[in-house]
Parts: sequence; C-alpha cells; structure tokens
Amino acid sequence: MHICKTISEFRKFRCSLTESKIIFVPTMGALHEGHGSLVQMARQLAGSNGVVAASIFVNPTQFGPNEDFHKYPRPFEQDLANLSRWQADVVFSPSPEEMYPVGTSTSIDPGPLGDSLDGAIRPGHFRGVCTVVAKLLGIVEPTAMILGQKDFQQQRILRQMAMDLNMPVEVITAPTMREPDGVAMSSRNRYLSPDQRARAGAIYQALCRAQDQYRSGMRESAVLQAGMIEQITQAGLEVQYALACHAETLVPYTETAGTPCVLLVAARLGTTRLIDNLLIS
Ligand code: AMP
Repeated sequence: MHICKTISEFRKFRCSLTESKIIFVPTMGALHEGHGSLVQMARQLAGSNGVVAASIFVNPTQFGPNEDFHKYPRPFEQDLANLSRWQADVVFSPSPEEMYPVGTSTSIDPGPLGDSLDGAIRPGHFRGVCTVVAKLLGIVEPTAMILGQKDFQQQRILRQMAMDLNMPVEVITAPTMREPDGVAMSSRNRYLSPDQRARAGAIYQALCRAQDQYRSGMRESAVLQAGMIEQITQAGLEVQYALACHAETLVPYTETAGTPCVLLVAARLGTTRLIDNLLIS
C-alpha cells in the first residue's frame, strides 16, 4: 500500500498508473468497520486491476470553534493497518498546511441543501466539507467516490456538488454499518462512557419505531417526529433534531410530493454528538 503525504507525491503515483479506474473513499481516519465496508466495496468495484484510494484527513474547516477538532482521534498507524487489511492500494494523508497553504481563499457554497439540519446547527460545516472534498477530488481524480449513508445530508450535498460543478466522478452511497445493538458505527462512539454507550441505542430504536409507524400508514411528520423525540429523550439524550424529510430536497416530509422519506436524528449524549438516519423504503 502506497502512502502519500503530499499532493505532489500523490500526483506522481497517479501518473504512474496505467489503469484508469480509481475508486476513492474520503475519511477523517479513526477507522472502524463502517469505513471498512466502504473500502471493501471500493475493492469490489475496482476489481483486481483498478485502484482503491482512501484519504485520511481531519479537515479543520469543517469543525466549528467549539467542536472536537483538536481532540478528534488520530490513530494513524492503526488506520494504515486497517486500510491495508481492507486492501486499499494508496492512502493520501496530507497535513492541514499541505491542504490549506497560507493564502488559500476559495471555498464552496453548499447551497440550500446545506442550510437545514446539521447545516443549521453547525454553521459553516458543509462549506468546509464541500471545499475539502472538491480539493480531494481535484487531487485524486477518481472515477468514483464512495460515501456513507450514515452522513445522509453530507452525501446528498456532495452528490449535488459533483453534478452542479460538472465533476467527472460517480458518487456512490453505501449503507450504514451498525453495532449488534443497532448503534451506527462512528469514530465518535469511542468518546462514550459505558453508560452512555448503553443508552445510545435509543436513537436507532426510535428510528425503527417511526419507520414501523410509517409503514403502517402514518404520514404526518409531526407524529413521527414527536414519537422519536419522546423515545430518545426518555433514554436521557438531548435531541437536536428528529425529523421526517424528503430524501432529495431535505425539506420536511409531506405525502403529496412523492419522493422517498428519510428519518434523520441528531442527539447529544453529554458532550458527544451522534447522528443517524433511516431511508424508508
Ligand atoms: P468520516 O471519517 O466520519 O468522515 O467518514 C468517512 C466516510 O465513512 C463518510 O462517507 C461516512 O459517511 C462513512 N461512514 C461513517 N460511518 C459509517 C458507518 N457506520 N457505515 C457506513 N459508512 C460510514
């Protein structure tokens, strides 16, 4: 597995390739089996001749001033071992200075999809995400990029960005990997105390119950939302939002518009913020 820490190193590696198929998985590291499922999907899609590229970069511009940028876990050697086990071919792991040299001034506006949900709670977050992913795509030049459904709004915004800016990349969304009790795997789960970890399951349970209600015919988003809020709050979490939205536009769900419905939750357990969602089929 090649490890490139600078843009020029990666470009040199890129130029040496004869194979044109490159499948890219961007990450912030602290890798778990959820990331593993994306890399393994990339391996499958690339085949034995194609190239699987992953990036590890804790992107400062997507963290707010009071967020966990400095304490975000960075187990680099362990991440490399996992990427090698999942059969990645190349890892791009630049420093913040490499990605944002003094004088960098351009950023990408995520548009209206970035205004609601996490965009409302974390101002500037999706501007940071769009900007870094656009830069990574400009460096890696993949044929396809795999994103997790776990970050539903993120994958929706990045898919729109790639389309609107005519980026020559296929955007693929991969399913959310969960722990046995249903908790979505996340690098931030390691912040949870055993007691908090036990209570975190309430998010997925509430999502599943709202999905059952929807499947039984309930279409009033206010009812679906109230049920989720009650169940998650009862478990001692602080709900930031629990919404039923249109999967394409991310506006509150109403039955008439006829696009798929996605249930989205963000909740805090102490200082740890967890997000999860279910796309109702
Ligand atoms: P992150 O390192 O948190 O920025 O995540 C990198 C990529 O992995 C993003 O596309 C995430 O949506 C995806 N991801 C994170 N957690 C999971 C999970 N539990 N299952 C599948 N994909 C995930």
